[in-house]
Amino acid sequence: MTTESVRRIKTHEPTSYQLTAITHDTHDTRTFRFDLPTDATLDMLPGDYLYIHATINGKSVKRPYTPSSMPGAMGYFDLTVKRYENGLISKYLHDQKAGDKVLMSGPKQGGHWVDGMAKKVGFVAGGTGITPMISIIRWILARNLDAELFLVFANKTEADIIFREEWEQHLRKHQTFHCYHVLEHPPAGWAQGVGRITEEILRRHLPSPGPETVLFLCGPTPMMSPLEASLNGLGYSEQSIILP
Ligand SMILES: Cc1cc2nc3c(=O)[nH]c(=O)nc-3n(C[C@H](O)[C@H](O)[C@H](O)COP(=O)(O)OP(=O)(O)OC[C@H]3O[C@@H](n4cnc5c(N)ncnc54)[C@H](O)[C@@H]3O)c2cc1C
Repeated sequence: MTTESVRRIKTHEPTSYQLTAITHDTHDTRTFRFDLPTDATLDMLPGDYLYIHATINGKSVKRPYTPSSMPGAMGYFDLTVKRYENGLISKYLHDQKAGDKVLMSGPKQGGHWVDGMAKKVGFVAGGTGITPMISIIRWILARNLDAELFLVFANKTEADIIFREEWEQHLRKHQTFHCYHVLEHPPAGWAQGVGRITEEILRRHLPSPGPETVLFLCGPTPMMSPLEASLNGLGYSEQSIILP
């Protein structure tokens, strides 16, 4: 298909997308696949996001979600969403089944990757903060871009690690991919990080600060400010830290 014949989808108004498949990633996280016309892809760069809209208890609610599928994927896109017991939109989405329709707008511009922006790329993720990063990592590795990747991924337990199998595969296949897991409650014999992400972990497992380095940072709100402060203390400039 030529570039001219590809339709690039972006909408300002909530638009209906059909859910076609649901994959179980972890005990509380699922990947939801949505249908696009076969000649269409989302008009986005890796890291951009969509809003899901719904009316819940008579109120209009919307929340942002970063597609986890590869930007440029034709005919579909994926959202990987963790279910919060008291969460309005995450619970609403987890209650949908294949064939149901969900309203979304966007993509909107998030903290995204642009080809050539750096040769060393660090990713610091907590929980579902991994979703913008999975599409960026998939994109860079699939295109064999000249960039070395360093992922530091924090979770509560081993069972919470999203896309675990894929990280292992990337480690086996790509010498340019490095991954360090940090678990709050590790299993017996765990050889990687324990507790929270510390300055020492960042210093040892991220590329050094410099003109060729960018860092993507995404996680729960309480994790973000202390991490940003640690990264600034380690010498990373504000411009080199990319937020969602
Ligand atoms: C740019 C961007 C992209 C995002 N992409 C994704 C994504 O791809 N996948 C994904 O699962 N989420 C993503 N999020 C988070 C998402 O937008 C929602 O905040 C999340 O799904 C909760 O929404 P909710 O309506 O279910 O919960 P709400 O009704 O907003 O919250 C209910 C309760 O859930 C708890 N809660 C909500 N969010 C969090 C959190 N992040 N950490 C800890 N507790 C929380 C709180 O206790 C809160 O009181 C993204 C956020 C941003 C800003």
